[in-house]
Amino acid sequence: MTGRLANKVALVCGAGSIGPGLGNGKATAAAFAREGAKVFAVDLNLEAAAETAGIITDEGFEATAHGADVSDPDAVGAMVAACLAAFGRIDILHNNVGIASLGGPLETNLQQWERVMRINVTSQFLTCQAVLPLFLKQGGGVIVNVSSLSAVKAARPELAYATSKGAVNALTINIAMEFADRNIRCNALVPGLINTPMVADAMKDNYGDGGLKAMVAARDALSPTGQMGEAWDVANAAVFLASDEARYINGMLLHIDGGLQHRFTAGQG
Ligand code: NAD
Repeated sequence: MTGRLANKVALVCGAGSIGPGLGNGKATAAAFAREGAKVFAVDLNLEAAAETAGIITDEGFEATAHGADVSDPDAVGAMVAACLAAFGRIDILHNNVGIASLGGPLETNLQQWERVMRINVTSQFLTCQAVLPLFLKQGGGVIVNVSSLSAVKAARPELAYATSKGAVNALTINIAMEFADRNIRCNALVPGLINTPMVADAMKDNYGDGGLKAMVAARDALSPTGQMGEAWDVANAAVFLASDEARYINGMLLHIDGGLQHRFTAGQG
């Protein structure tokens, strides 16, 4: 199916990848474009945003890259203004920015806690607050926030990360309810174990000499399907939630986890 996002403008925050390969944001930006959206690809790392925009334009679709720290209110204001200057409107806000952070209640220090909250939650608050007035003026819009299964399943000690994603769930539900009668929807994607550069970067040292290969094998084994998901699985769900097919889906926390939410497992993810 094509054209499911025809004539829409998508602002994708965290559209790059932290390392080589395909992250959730990069795949989502590409999937949005393939369905007809014009993509404003934003990342702290402008080069990473430009790489994603390049993939999109090489395929013959439309994208512009922009560098911004979305945890900075001034940068968020400038980002929205730049998107409007480039494309004239915003129909979809996709909040993919998030950083991993390991450590339990006793190991997490205040600086780490505040950094994770600022990047994983405050950024989504700021981008939503900047875009919502525009949605109200335009008569509608869609927000897709990226959460994590960690919000509801404690697979390993990652207190700050898990708490930040719990807050993303609450943010999503509250925005959804506030604007439901004004043609604005807000949903969250809740990925489980997805094989992306972010995970490789955060987890590879936890598996001893086996490194990356051992990490992939362990995470594959934890999934009920026997394999982690991939960034396209997250991207395809994002396309659905952003499209008019999901017009009656609001305040939804959509799991993309191969059923992992239902598995009773004690072990490391
Ligand atoms: P990624 O790290 O490859 O991409 C995130 C991008 O965000 C990076 O390019 C990074 O430069 C950018 N970024 C970081 N801080 C920023 C800031 N302050 N302003 C603007 N950009 C910033 O990760 P990804 O694979 O695209 O996935 C990211 C999202 O998916 C995160 O929210 C993460 O919590 C969530 N998630 C991932 C998994 C998984 O298993 N991979 C599971 C659950 C949830």
